Amino acid sequence: LAEKMKIQPSVIIKKLFLAGKMVTVNSELDFEAAGELAMEMNFDPVPEEKEDVIAKMLEDSEDGAETLVPRPPVVCVMGHVDHGKTSLLDAIRDTHVIDREAGGITQHIGAYVVTINGQKITFLDTPGHEAFTAMRMRGANSTDIAILVVAADDGVMPQTVEAINHAKAAGIEIIVAINKIDKPSANIERVKQELTEYELIPEDWGGSTIFCPVSAHTHEGIDNLLEMILLTSEVLELKANPNRRARGLVIEAELDKGKGPVATVLVQKGTLHVGDPIAVGSCHGKVRAMMDDNGRRVKEAGPSKPVEILGLNDVPNAGEIFVSPETDKEARAFAETYVKESREKLIEDTKLKMSLDDLYSQIQSGNLKELNIIVKADVQGSVEAVKQSLLKLSNEEVVVKIIHGGVGAINESDVSLAAASNAIIIGFNVRPDATAKETAEREKVDLRLYRVIYDAINDVEAAMKGMLDPIF
Ligand code: GDP
Repeated sequence: LAEKMKIQPSVIIKKLFLAGKMVTVNSELDFEAAGELAMEMNFDPVPEEKEDVIAKMLEDSEDGAETLVPRPPVVCVMGHVDHGKTSLLDAIRDTHVIDREAGGITQHIGAYVVTINGQKITFLDTPGHEAFTAMRMRGANSTDIAILVVAADDGVMPQTVEAINHAKAAGIEIIVAINKIDKPSANIERVKQELTEYELIPEDWGGSTIFCPVSAHTHEGIDNLLEMILLTSEVLELKANPNRRARGLVIEAELDKGKGPVATVLVQKGTLHVGDPIAVGSCHGKVRAMMDDNGRRVKEAGPSKPVEILGLNDVPNAGEIFVSPETDKEARAFAETYVKESREKLIEDTKLKMSLDDLYSQIQSGNLKELNIIVKADVQGSVEAVKQSLLKLSNEEVVVKIIHGGVGAINESDVSLAAASNAIIIGFNVRPDATAKETAEREKVDLRLYRVIYDAINDVEAAMKGMLDPIF
């Protein structure tokens, strides 16, 4: 401040001292105090354009192609309840933990790594698409490959379809694991047949989806499934730069009585070291210790490696992006700004919410090329009818896409898919359940209910032309 006003620092120190404030040349003054001083000296204080610390830190620089090296795939398991997601995750872990002899003990940290033929695969240990979609809502993609588990004795069920649409909306590769083939009532061909309806067509039928018959109970087919995952990841050419500041996601976090806040993070880029500053959401700290899924202390974690870390000052939210700035000061600034600007607002700002009301202006400004819609109805016939009519509304400016359609009440999964994919939901003769309604309000998902197909089509068409009557 003294430098800016071209006076001796001692002048300022003296003034503050007389006002009862003990300061040194290195003290920081807030804008108000500095402004008052400046005005006394006949200066006109103007607040500097505030730098958006969060946006700047979350901003992700592209790594040059020459810095990239192959990284292990990150895989999640999805599917209908009771089709064997948990059993499959357990079976994979049990058969492929390598470090038992080396004194390691399997630790449930929310993710684990298996090694097959010398190559690694990282599995997210939370079955289901909830966690996965929660991350997408925060703008982060956690997974490269989704294993769609379908029980061979049960076939495609409602949550199977949900899972397919969540994976497709996220643009990730799907490998089908037909589970429970040990059961006498297993019917692999029927599952294949049913999935063709969702554009998952086996290679031997001329499609491009990998199908792996497995049994989580007898472990039959599990090695084959793992090999197929590796094959798929080779094709995807998954790469990351390990030689930069780390960045990744929180998989899960909790407060441990003895250890304090404990978070499992998945490093996506760069390498995280013990001693590195870290910031995630409203939390910050320095990595005090790291532990891998074999319960061993590690000093560093590179791309696709999940580790449990100690050293944060608070418990972060699962799905949040973490960064590792150069200095502790930056980490603290990040967290402090985060608190100040409040999470909700930040999330609001970073994603453009879709609504029929401003559809036209978004089309006009060229922001929107695709209108994503989820259709729920009371009977399958209506789902199809609404879908077909909506698809026909596509024009040169905007393509209408039905990312999910189903029978039954609008549930939370529909809403989270809509929030993550920037979609609107059209309900025909159905209502949202209580949690769906709540989530829709919180996430600002445009949810519209109709009794007459014609009205639904009309509204979307009018909105696309900028002629929708506002609702009051
Ligand atoms: P999730 O809800 O998808 O996680 O399913 P679970 O892993 O909890 O499995 C549901 C039920 O199916 C449990 O009773 C399991 O023992 C059983 N199950 C899972 N995998 C297999 C399998 O490969 N064969 C047989 N026979 N049963 C299985």
